[in-house]
Amino acid sequence: MTGPFTTHEVLNQPPPLEDVNLFASDLALKEAVEREGAGAAREALDAFGALTGSAEALERGRLANEHLPRLETHDRHGHRRDTVAYHPAYHELMTTSCTQGLHSAVWTHLRTAGEPRRPGAHVARAGAFYMAAQMEAGHCCPITMTNAAVPVLLLQPDLAEEWIPKILPFRYDPSFAPAREKAAVTFGMGMTEKQGGTDVRASSTMAEPVATGGAGAEYIITGHKWFMSAPMSDAFLVLAQAENGLTCFLMPRFLPDGSVNALRFQRLKDKLGNRSNASSEVEFHGAWARALGEEGRGIATIIEMVTHTRLDCAVASAGLMRLALANAIHHAEHRTVFQRKLVHQPLMEQVLADLVLDVEAATALSFRLARAFDRADDPRAGAWRRLMTPVTKYWVCKIAPALVAEAMECLGGSGYVEEAPLARLYREVPVNSIWEGSGNVMVLDVMRVLQREPDAVEQVMEDLGVAAADDARLKHAHERIQSLLYEPKLLDQRGRALVEALALLAAGTILKAGAPAAVADAFIASRFGGVSKQTYGQGLERADTRAIIARGSPNRE
Ligand SMILES: Cc1cc2nc3c(=O)[nH]c(=O)nc-3n(C[C@H](O)[C@H](O)[C@H](O)COP(=O)(O)OP(=O)(O)OC[C@H]3O[C@@H](n4cnc5c(N)ncnc54)[C@H](O)[C@@H]3O)c2cc1C
Repeated sequence: MTGPFTTHEVLNQPPPLEDVNLFASDLALKEAVEREGAGAAREALDAFGALTGSAEALERGRLANEHLPRLETHDRHGHRRDTVAYHPAYHELMTTSCTQGLHSAVWTHLRTAGEPRRPGAHVARAGAFYMAAQMEAGHCCPITMTNAAVPVLLLQPDLAEEWIPKILPFRYDPSFAPAREKAAVTFGMGMTEKQGGTDVRASSTMAEPVATGGAGAEYIITGHKWFMSAPMSDAFLVLAQAENGLTCFLMPRFLPDGSVNALRFQRLKDKLGNRSNASSEVEFHGAWARALGEEGRGIATIIEMVTHTRLDCAVASAGLMRLALANAIHHAEHRTVFQRKLVHQPLMEQVLADLVLDVEAATALSFRLARAFDRADDPRAGAWRRLMTPVTKYWVCKIAPALVAEAMECLGGSGYVEEAPLARLYREVPVNSIWEGSGNVMVLDVMRVLQREPDAVEQVMEDLGVAAADDARLKHAHERIQSLLYEPKLLDQRGRALVEALALLAAGTILKAGAPAAVADAFIASRFGGVSKQTYGQGLERADTRAIIARGSPNRE
């Protein structure tokens, strides 16, 4: 190359990883969707995969994170506004995901009275959500909260009748207006306060009935929330103390007379990642709300919302790990070091194959859990949902940061700069482990199941026992877990060990039954074979690493 300011030709740099169909190029995802009962959604997911993996969509993700949401507390004349302005790219991302129905597709049977649930709806939605998170993770927060608000609303028929028809349309309407004037609405959630997040019983926010209290009654709420994301949502499910204890309320942005409700946003959090999503600190200055459920039943009421969001945390984390892995393999396939493609350097081969195995396991676990939500009426699936929601959320979300860090390293210095998606991903992933119940809280939830719902544990252990029967290492892992369960006094100390062991065993059994032998054998050998390791790239001496990496490659359409 010649020219006055040209010193060199750019060589040995990979092409950008964009315009890749996130569904067609992801074998583990495609197989999980089929295996867990959503094969009918194949074509829709393929189309959504092309959309979410397009260069335009990824650019929107970048823009929405570079141009942060801005809180506008007042207008220029000093009137309160309490609105948040987003970059147009954020609204475009919301439009993409809402048009796909990610905020309501599992509830479309509610459009017509008596209509049965659509089989495989949760798994199909999980497939799309996994890809939407790769397109851009921050906007997934209001999407997941809106979806998860529906089962709580169903507990209060008059509120369900008023609000659910506004959630169901596959549309996004960002206008700041009363819900009745809008084409579609989104929901947020306010539980965490300064003095207590996990310990929501410590809430100091007070609720006074306008007249007589009780389910569906009107209340005036005074207090604060320390984290309340997606503040431009049309309504929030919030917890506050009523006379008979912590109660769940539906708090809309507008009052029935069309005036703005008394939510005063103090500031937006300056966060490590998840930056396209606004997370507010808010005060309720006598805000109007209606009780959702009876006084004192706040936690029991809102828990179903939390359960649904925990599934999404796992699915999104699996998707983000997939994105990191795809970038790592793509880079290694194109980069030459010491006269050899990086992907064929023996040490790198070990690392990449090891990353593939964890992404396969995270995907398998998340989609098996989604199936349990689809079939929750079946007692065995219900047992899986109860026990394995915290187990899956714990393990998948917790391994994500280390996996993304290793994937970033596979790109060398180029992985560490903001132009590559890895830097943003690295800052994004820890949040899924923190919100909706942090690690220890998931472990405590598992212990609660052990104490209060031993039948659920027994059923899951039975299922895992059957699935593990043909493999000596899985069988041994199953026996080890059984022995942990028989020592309940030690569980306080061994809770994390138990949860991790359950996640690994479940993943091992699903991969054994459903993944190619190269993947399943390597996963079982390296995770159950007694290899002691703290970093990736170990324990795969006998594995067919090339076959494993080829399966994980995004360059396969
Ligand atoms: C980006 C972001 C957005 C958020 N958006 C929202 C939102 O929209 N609405 C909302 O309500 N909240 C939101 N949150 C808050 C989030 O859900 C809480 O931060 C989380 O639940 C933890 O609560 P905390 O911060 O009060 O920590 P704490 O409850 O003080 O917990 C601190 C640590 O202690 C551990 N811990 C707690 N109890 C125990 C125990 N008994 N034994 C052992 N360990 C324990 C926890 O696992 C955690 O690791 C958001 C948080 C973030 C980071």
